[in-house]
Amino acid sequence: MSMDWTAAFEGPLSEYVPTDTTARIRVPWPELDDTDHDLARVVLEDPLSAFPAAEDALAELGYTDTAFRVFDLPESRTYRVGKYGSDALGTLIGVHGEVVNVEAIKPFAETAAFECSYCGTLNPMSQPGGKLVKPFECQNETCENTNQWSLNVSESEIADFQEILIKRTESSLDDPPVEAVYLWDDLCETLSKGDVVTIVGTYDTLPWPDEAVLKTYLDAVSINKSEQPATVDEVADWKVKKWTFEEADRLCDAGSGYDCSKRDVLRSVSDEYGVAEGEINAAIDNLEEQGYVSEYQDGRIQITTSSDPTFEPPAEL
Ligand SMILES: [Zn+2]
Repeated sequence: MSMDWTAAFEGPLSEYVPTDTTARIRVPWPELDDTDHDLARVVLEDPLSAFPAAEDALAELGYTDTAFRVFDLPESRTYRVGKYGSDALGTLIGVHGEVVNVEAIKPFAETAAFECSYCGTLNPMSQPGGKLVKPFECQNETCENTNQWSLNVSESEIADFQEILIKRTESSLDDPPVEAVYLWDDLCETLSKGDVVTIVGTYDTLPWPDEAVLKTYLDAVSINKSEQPATVDEVADWKVKKWTFEEADRLCDAGSGYDCSKRDVLRSVSDEYGVAEGEINAAIDNLEEQGYVSEYQDGRIQITTSSDPTFEPPAEL
């Protein structure tokens, strides 16, 4: 029997519900999955219904305007920038990359209230983004106004909005893939250029396709910054690879089948060095590309080199 959001927030998830009135609650996805498998699944598959439903339940419990944030998605849902396909559209995914551009914060009208200049009637118009969509005619049936409006800011729903761009890290491509990410309200102003992040969000296309190629973006619901900010420079890259390889090697030696679980490698390197799992994932991919390890469907890893690879960059002369 599946739980509803209200029961989840009152019961197993109550420890995440704030005692004061903060603007958000953050729940690790595995906790949600332990609480209720169906709720966890619908968050992944249909975030555009699941998040409003969860936030409505919070509002009914007295937490009005409280954002529901989910982080730490399963590994199968976490990708490097551009490594997901169009079948991920409309679902919740985690994307790992480096912030390469940060736009200024703008106020964004989610619902713009247009006041009729003839009769004063308020005409609320929900906004898809971009150019303001104005009413076609005044909602007052006796009024004939079709084009004279003033925007009533206090009656509009205005949110802070910020667009950033993230780029794939550890890429051998000349032109690594990038993705636009939209940040709202409390997520705004949390990132700067050079930050290496895993962003959980809904993967979507812009609602006004006017080009043959749809523009995609990630609508963020949570951000986890890597604790090692230096991934941008190559020193940290090689270090993450070295730590990952050494840990995989140690765990494989300790195991009975000369292999080890990828999950254990991720957890162990992440605990030991404070590196985000997305980065360790990228390091494993990179080690595999170089033929040092093999990764199998069942989530296990084997060392496939008999020599000890060198990860240190050559000393500068
Ligand atoms: Zn009017």
